[in-house]
Amino acid sequence: QLSKRLETVADFLQKPIRFADIGSDHAYLPCFVCQNDPEAFAIAGELNKGPYLSALEEVKKRQLNHQIEVIQGNGLEVIDNRINQIVIAGMGGPLITEILDEGKDKLTHVSKIITQPNIDARSIRKWLIDHEYNLVNEVILEEGGHVYEILVAEKGEPKKNYEEKLLERQLWLGPHLLKEKNSAFYKKWEEEKEKKHQIVEQMKRASEPDFEKIKQFKKEISWLEEVL
Ligand code: SAM
Repeated sequence: QLSKRLETVADFLQKPIRFADIGSDHAYLPCFVCQNDPEAFAIAGELNKGPYLSALEEVKKRQLNHQIEVIQGNGLEVIDNRINQIVIAGMGGPLITEILDEGKDKLTHVSKIITQPNIDARSIRKWLIDHEYNLVNEVILEEGGHVYEILVAEKGEPKKNYEEKLLERQLWLGPHLLKEKNSAFYKKWEEEKEKKHQIVEQMKRASEPDFEKIKQFKKEISWLEEVL
């Protein structure tokens, strides 16, 4: 049984599916997608030997070798012109952004990028706008006590979802997520706000308080107070 997190990611893939799952680990996502769609094709990319071997084994066990290529390699170097969509899930935002940036020349045939950052979705939103990808959808969901964010971007008109004045806040909290504000959104950002309060209190007690940082945190707390 696939996690709700990865099933939600899978729902955003568009037919005809020829996707690469970068950092595929056990290749659970490509296996799920290809089992449900016999026309689908996937590349499971893995940097590290252990997960690469796990992916190979899983694909073999499920007899999906004709639909899934497991390739050991760094980031987007495993993709070629057959691939029309990519998924990068279960890593930190900065690593996902680095993978996109290092491999941006390989994205010419990729019309959809689905990412699921564990932390710092902001850096990905920023990269997407800067590289003319339009953030078409976002999901925030809770599973097993964790809150996950999923960002879906398509090539095309950038900045459509952003208003100049709100840009900074939207980049941080997500333009679509801010509109919906579901229970997972509240859980994540109420906790963040509480953490930030505690950090500010600690910083104030320091022998030489960093007033710039305190100001930044206070600004973020006030944004959170406005939206929650
Ligand atoms: N994508 C799966 C998921 O969401 O459940 C697995 C996530 S797992 C926590 C992250 C995987 O990314 C690890 O298996 C790691 O080896 C792989 N990884 C890290 N950096 C990578 C890179 N630059 N290129 C390809 N894979 C990478």
